[in-house]
Amino acid sequence: MPAADICYTGRMHGDVIGMLNTLRRGGIRDARVLDAMASVPREQFVPPGQRGEAYADRALAIDCGQTISQPLMVAVVVQALDIQAGDRVLDVGTGSGYQAAVLAACGAEVVGIERLTQLAESARQRLTAAGYDIPVHVGDGTLGLPDLAPFDAIAVAATAPWLPPALPRQLSERGRLVIPLHREGEQMDELVRLRLLDGRWVTDNLGPCRFVPLIGGDAYLG
Ligand code: SAH
Repeated sequence: MPAADICYTGRMHGDVIGMLNTLRRGGIRDARVLDAMASVPREQFVPPGQRGEAYADRALAIDCGQTISQPLMVAVVVQALDIQAGDRVLDVGTGSGYQAAVLAACGAEVVGIERLTQLAESARQRLTAAGYDIPVHVGDGTLGLPDLAPFDAIAVAATAPWLPPALPRQLSERGRLVIPLHREGEQMDELVRLRLLDGRWVTDNLGPCRFVPLIGGDAYLG
């Protein structure tokens, strides 16, 4: 059976297939990512009134003025991180918990960090209800989680004015990091990947994007 054509029992089958087609059209080829996106019940991570929109390819409002990222953006980030089973991953800006769940569904051991206590608490509840064992810390993700480092991958889900220097320091030897960066005067943010390859940093521009601001000691002021 082709990857990501498995049966999604009891869930909005047609909507999931539609989302997968959108992801493929958007350049998502990694079967691990497609399978993960197919397996995570996105409707459990959106506000109850918006469940009918759960598989539409757009960001949706969650509590505290924040958003659950658009499915294609989550898939682009997760594909760029090239997650391998057993990778230790830090999810910065856990929000609804959805991206953390997709990372876990790729086989990663995920730790989340979210600055807003209310969102961290509801993300914990949703993740547990959906069967994911993902601790969500409350704190400033611009500082990472040094006590739990190193991480094989770090996903930042909010736009920063620069790369917070604590984050690359917490990557393992072949670590990958994806972060949206805002350049002054530009309309759109830029999704940037940083990889450590044979002791050297390699940076790739993954294209334009738009995220909520990263607020913290080494980013925007709250
Ligand atoms: N990955 C999330 C996206 C949530 S939007 C999802 O799948 O739903 C980005 C989140 O980053 C918001 O919840 C916001 O509160 C959080 N955030 C912003 N600045 C932060 C910081 N310095 N540390 C941790 N979280 C932060």
